[in-house]
Amino acid sequence: MSDFVVSARKYRPSTFTDVVGQLAITTTLSKAIKDNHLAQSFLFCGPRGVGKTTCARILAKTINCENISENVEACDKCESCTSFNEHHSFNIHELDAASNNSVDDIRNLVDQVRFAPQVGEYSIYIIDEVHMLSSAAFNAFLKTLEEPPKHAIFILATTEKHKIIPTILSRCQIFDFKSIGMNDIISHLEYVSKSEGINAEKDALHIVAQKAGGSLRDSLSMFDRLVDSTDLSISYKSVIENLNILDHDYYLKITNQIISNDVSSVMLTINEILQNGFDAHQFIMGLASHLRDLLVCKDPQTLVLLDKGEELKSKYLSQSENCELSFLIKALRMCNKCDVEYRASKNQRLLVELTLLKMTTIGQFVSEKKNNNSQIIAPAKQVEVKIKQEIVEEVPVIEVLHKTVDQVEKVEVVVEEKVEVKTVVKQEPLRRVRKSRFSLSDVMDDKKEVETELNAPKKSENFTESRMREVWMLFAEKINKEGKMNLFITLTSSDPTLEEETLINLKISNDAQEKILDENKIELMDHLRTSLNNDFISLKTELSEDKKSDVPYTPKDKFIKMTEENPHLNTLQQKLGLDPDY
Ligand SMILES: [Zn+2]
Repeated sequence: MSDFVVSARKYRPSTFTDVVGQLAITTTLSKAIKDNHLAQSFLFCGPRGVGKTTCARILAKTINCENISENVEACDKCESCTSFNEHHSFNIHELDAASNNSVDDIRNLVDQVRFAPQVGEYSIYIIDEVHMLSSAAFNAFLKTLEEPPKHAIFILATTEKHKIIPTILSRCQIFDFKSIGMNDIISHLEYVSKSEGINAEKDALHIVAQKAGGSLRDSLSMFDRLVDSTDLSISYKSVIENLNILDHDYYLKITNQIISNDVSSVMLTINEILQNGFDAHQFIMGLASHLRDLLVCKDPQTLVLLDKGEELKSKYLSQSENCELSFLIKALRMCNKCDVEYRASKNQRLLVELTLLKMTTIGQFVSEKKNNNSQIIAPAKQVEVKIKQEIVEEVPVIEVLHKTVDQVEKVEVVVEEKVEVKTVVKQEPLRRVRKSRFSLSDVMDDKKEVETELNAPKKSENFTESRMREVWMLFAEKINKEGKMNLFITLTSSDPTLEEETLINLKISNDAQEKILDENKIELMDHLRTSLNNDFISLKTELSEDKKSDVPYTPKDKFIKMTEENPHLNTLQQKLGLDPDY
């Protein structure tokens, strides 16, 4: 094992060409050297482990080399180069500001700056984590940074650029180092494996690269820990075990179980995952990114976004073929919802289980439809998404589970007609509505026919505005008893008016109220239509202008409003020198 602990250091790039994943920066630096346009102060910003210090050292070595090559690389042979490579060059001075951030530390450094180097032309001063310097230390340093001696070059490095004061920023040439891409990290790890004679599974390196999150240094130290020194290998299995990563096999497995509506297996798998010590939240987030990967597979254009080894890629592709696009989108939404609700949930495991169960109900629709009428799938895609959303959201899951295919199709028509799901699902005979083979265009063409068949005969009793208000208030009182205060306020803050025969208009004060109303619209419409015996009733909302502008929110607004009512307040304010903001 100990043989490998050095790879981060051993494989530290020593020329600009070797630097991994920072081509823009290395190109600019070598061009500056070539053109002799080198700045005297640099600020290297970027995440940890992406090559800031490495680039600083290469820069130091290159500009001091006695035989710089045509393509601006150090020769690695001259006296200056060899002393660099053996780590005893006097031309490079490093200060870690994280632990040496006092004024004295900086004064020591500033004192050294005055002396020209013995060998080579330049002295390089690297101040790492420069944002950690105390403000006194910063000030002590500013003057030197302003007028550095010709032989001195400063490279300030930081992971937190926003903490650097503007006076420093304006004096430096700034380079933003980016996180290193997965593919760059993987090929570097492959290179290290090859050079060390290590037998590395590509999927294993993939996981390491993924876990390193864009830091090459982290990926290398992880790699060191994971190499099995007995047989010089690094395998997918050992990486998964050691890094305690939820295997993609689990995700592939549970997704298969979900889309085939195998509820019991889903429950067993999640149980197994939790028993293996994985966190339920972590699992649901992992499932979300798995679904995202499947989504990416759906389109050849986005396939490049799938960061997986070849073997794994084919597994994803084949699973993706078995998943409807609408299923993936819906399931992703469910994961997201679960993620949002997770922290607040009292029974987190149940929340995750319920989320998975809901997913199996989407799977059911997809597979049943496929078996029953493959013609529907393509043209009716848009309708499909809609329905499933409605059903799963509005109807208790259990109920959906027992729906027959006939009913499902019927709901589809109904949703397209914008009639509320809840009431219609309960209605009985479906056969007459059901079209043996229908597509979206069928639904469009036969709108009328379907509508009449479905709800015939429709109730259309006349009613007056005052009768409507009575019925409205009854509903509001019921809501009040249920303790839904927000909805109650929304319903009662203004009187609903009757605009046309059946169109009710309600003025609301803000978007929040609109949302509350929307969420409860089904129940409200149901109540109105039943109580007034009219199926044509519809509701629109209107943001009331006066309410929007009239309600004073800030202290200043309130003050202005008060002075309108009593102008003497102005005099009072001026005399006492009051600030209405407070
Ligand atoms: Zn050299």
